Amino acid sequence: MFTPFTARSYDFTEYATANNFIGGEFSAPRSSKDTLPVLNPRHGKAFSKVVMSAREDVDAAVQVAAHAFKEWRAWPIRERAQVIYRLRQIMLDNIEELSWLITHENGKLFAEAKAEVEKAIECAEYGCSLPNLASGNQLEVSRGVACEVIYEPLGVVAGVTPFNFPLMVPMWMLPQALVGGNSFILKPSEQVPLSSLRLGQMLEQAGLPKGVFNVVQGGQAVVEAFCDHPEIKAVGFVGSTRVAKAVYGRASTNGKRAICLGGPRNNHNDMPDADVALTTEKVVASFTGCAGQRCMAASELLAVGDCDHIIEAIKVRAAKMMTGNDLGPIITAQSESKIRGYIEDAEKKGANIILDGREQRGTQEGFWVGATILDNMSTDIPAGKEEIFGPVLSIIRVATLDKAIEIENANPYGNASSVYTTSGDVARHVMNNVEAGMCGVNVGVPVPREPFGFGGWNDSSFGHGNITGWDGYRFFTRQRKITSKWALQKDVTWMS
Ligand code: NAD
Repeated sequence: MFTPFTARSYDFTEYATANNFIGGEFSAPRSSKDTLPVLNPRHGKAFSKVVMSAREDVDAAVQVAAHAFKEWRAWPIRERAQVIYRLRQIMLDNIEELSWLITHENGKLFAEAKAEVEKAIECAEYGCSLPNLASGNQLEVSRGVACEVIYEPLGVVAGVTPFNFPLMVPMWMLPQALVGGNSFILKPSEQVPLSSLRLGQMLEQAGLPKGVFNVVQGGQAVVEAFCDHPEIKAVGFVGSTRVAKAVYGRASTNGKRAICLGGPRNNHNDMPDADVALTTEKVVASFTGCAGQRCMAASELLAVGDCDHIIEAIKVRAAKMMTGNDLGPIITAQSESKIRGYIEDAEKKGANIILDGREQRGTQEGFWVGATILDNMSTDIPAGKEEIFGPVLSIIRVATLDKAIEIENANPYGNASSVYTTSGDVARHVMNNVEAGMCGVNVGVPVPREPFGFGGWNDSSFGHGNITGWDGYRFFTRQRKITSKWALQKDVTWMS
């Protein structure tokens, strides 16, 4: 039985096994009995386990999803959207449960988990609006001849999601895919496999027919089976750049649509004229929120000219962030040691550690790194150019804004970039010249909220367009063009 999660505090609480969810049933894989522990990062020990599926489990899910698709695609779009309306209410009614479940499987603070659920609900709201947006087009293109464009589903589609947003990232794709009339197979990260199972139950409670939404748990083998299966028509992926590139290559070689979002190296461009209080709050929230494990976390501060007064304020503010209360844990022991490795390497290579969070722990047993600031950094060392995915800010000092932009644009990624300034002219110059798909002016986490589409550029995204918003609907649908004529015209031309 997969029952609702009951914990309402950070206290360690065991939970049911994360099985597959296929055709509305929870089932173990046919292929193997392999499982992995699901760790609670605050406590550093397993509170559940996840089954590891293989190709034949994907085959079984596709068969069920393809069957369910036949009925689902025939529902009018308004009726499909009603399911998402009801899901939105069910998520709101269960916001405490969902937030605590995310807190236990991912480790983030309760307030951060609740914000994640609220953002997932916004995605549902966008899905509810689709019947008003997706009306298609019709035009009399010449006398007596009408052209019409309608959006149709692709069939069975799949999503692969990362560990850092167990509920929100699946909800980036689901409303558009389902309201568009597709059936969906999700493979969540094996590190956070539980929220998507509750989501499946909630969708069913909202009236979604069995088999339209399915979860196949596992790792690489499941993702590769998605990319290879001829009945899966599209793959949406969110995760690291290395894997995003591989998944994009494999899925598109097999003739599928693919949109694969990868990792970043996000920047803050800090000008001496910036508002100190605003900049401090936004920079600290950006690199410490979710313990830096966000694809929008800006881990690099390009300090233009004399920014010492701002850097000092950032240091003072970040020093008050206490692990356990203000800063959650790191997802695993391996990730913790990877982050520590970056800091140690930077220290050896001459970085000035102006705030050292290595001694901070929220609990004895969990995985922790406190807020850390490395000054006098350069892009020659790994911590100065790679995605650290921890609460670490690297400061690179530059003399001019154009040098800052040059450093930023030399980076292969293109996710997010922010500028802190009181000058509209400077802000516009940065926005016009940085290689980043999502930009902020005095905003540390420039996520384009619904209805705007989320997606980076360059090595932060493979495929075309954004994963959310209208692009998401276009991604999960295809357009049928119908040309009709019902009577002979007297004044015929070759066009009619
Ligand atoms: P990851 O790439 O390790 O895993 C993502 C998904 O891919 C998981 O479901 C995992 O099981 C699967 N996977 C892992 N290795 C695979 C392989 N070799 N072949 C096929 N599938 C594989 O990422 P993660 O550690 O779960 O998440 C953190 C990363 O995700 C960071 O790099 C972060 O920046 C990125 N991220 C990006 C965005 C974005 O919108 N651009 C959003 C969230 C997270």
